[in-house]
Amino acid sequence: MSGQPTLSGNRGLQIEEKLIFEMDNPGSVAVDLPEPGPIDLDRMGGVARRGRIGLPDLSEPQVVRHFTRLSQKNYGIDSGFYPLGSCTMKHNPRLSEKMARLPGLADLHPLQPQKTVQGALEVIDSLAFWLKELTGLPAIAMSPAAGAHGEWCGLMAIRAAHEDRGEGHRRRMLVPESAHGTNPASAAMCGFTVDPIPAKDNGRVDLDAMKAKLGPDVAGLMLTNPNTCGLFESEIIEIAAAIHGAGGYFYCDGANFNAIVGRVRVADLGIDCMHINLHKTFSTPHGGGGPGAGPTVLSAALAPYAPVPYVVHGPQGLELVEGAREGAKPFGRVKGFHGQFGVFVRALAYIASMGADGLRQASGDAVLNANYLQASLSDALTASFDGPCMHEALFDDRFLKDTGVTTLDFAKALIDEGYHPMTMYFPLVVHGALLMEPTETESRETLDQFIAVVKGLAGRAKAGAAEDFKAAPRLTPRRRLDETLAARAPVLRWKAST
Ligand SMILES: *Cc1c(COP(=O)(O)O)cnc(C)c1O
Repeated sequence: MSGQPTLSGNRGLQIEEKLIFEMDNPGSVAVDLPEPGPIDLDRMGGVARRGRIGLPDLSEPQVVRHFTRLSQKNYGIDSGFYPLGSCTMKHNPRLSEKMARLPGLADLHPLQPQKTVQGALEVIDSLAFWLKELTGLPAIAMSPAAGAHGEWCGLMAIRAAHEDRGEGHRRRMLVPESAHGTNPASAAMCGFTVDPIPAKDNGRVDLDAMKAKLGPDVAGLMLTNPNTCGLFESEIIEIAAAIHGAGGYFYCDGANFNAIVGRVRVADLGIDCMHINLHKTFSTPHGGGGPGAGPTVLSAALAPYAPVPYVVHGPQGLELVEGAREGAKPFGRVKGFHGQFGVFVRALAYIASMGADGLRQASGDAVLNANYLQASLSDALTASFDGPCMHEALFDDRFLKDTGVTTLDFAKALIDEGYHPMTMYFPLVVHGALLMEPTETESRETLDQFIAVVKGLAGRAKAGAAEDFKAAPRLTPRRRLDETLAARAPVLRWKAST
């Protein structure tokens, strides 16, 4: 391919789209209204607008085309395979979307009197019931708005519990090296110092190294299970016993719950507290910054410190508790109103439509699909750890050794092939990581097509096509961006050139 730009700047039917402000065509309107009569400006208290407010003038077809084209630039789970590891990019059933749009749920106001929203409170209460049932933990904070927010909420409960029994000096939080970046960040935001625990050669937490770090200042441990290498922490019972023995609490990052839902009750593993990313495991749409939801389940020891609000069964029906209550010592509030209600509706619809057998099958199929990828790609790429994986397959860049191609180049070449890349360079415990999570919703045909493309690219890289890889992606509206510059000097505001 020559890479020559076209006359128009368009690439085939991918149209080079301007900002809507750059398309301003003064005088164009999308509606045809009669000229208004004289307006009594006095009644505006002197605040009437005198000039233009700077919105672009456009016709209806211009507006429709603009937003349609923008929507087509978006690659999502509805466009194709999205093997982004750690993100559980599964299909979002249309049934759940339909439920979330029911006017009786979608048109509520968060300040309506409670007696007029008993159905909505029942949605929150039923979802809370099922999340407690699936994890075996007795209490839940529904309001955190994301996984990271749930981590923070759980750690705040742990901190409050320590302070309440006069052990506020416990401020050291143990976090494995392979943890998602949000874990140390949440711990630091709660005022804990983060103490990393190394992994063993088999990708699991080093139990002896963890035990060596226990002491009277340890507040707890944050562990992801299955961990971010896609492996089940086989010594988790011993880990729980050790942290409890040292007077600490056991936080579990539940982002990978999709691998074990319906099969393992996290309470049975000795976990005190875990957030659940509804937007991952329970299939509500995510990406592009939101909205998600990170309800956090809590053990009996942490339950009194759960933040408000929460739903209880009262004499008049369901009640939303917004303040202190007998026996409870909420550490505060983490979110305006009640949490991400639209996400709750979708997650409950998903759970109800799947049923217990469906959820069990989903986790089984997710693990099967990941193992199919791992087994099929093991001779072309280099799997980081021996043995089967859970719901995601981790490879590293040893297969690219001496080819001049990096993990980044490889991912960019996949974009030209029509695939969203896998997660790259995470987790940090292996070199040049490629983390693939197919989820249960992909068919064998999709996986086989993807496997053929990845194998083909690996073959090309080994055959000495480094130049081609460095030039990828060639077919996208933009090619390689200066991501450092974009992060350091972002241009967030359009200014008129005249
Ligand atoms: C996604 C994820 C998180 C953070 O969840 P958000 O909802 O994105 O805040 C934390 N830990 C792991 C392992 C994750 O995959």
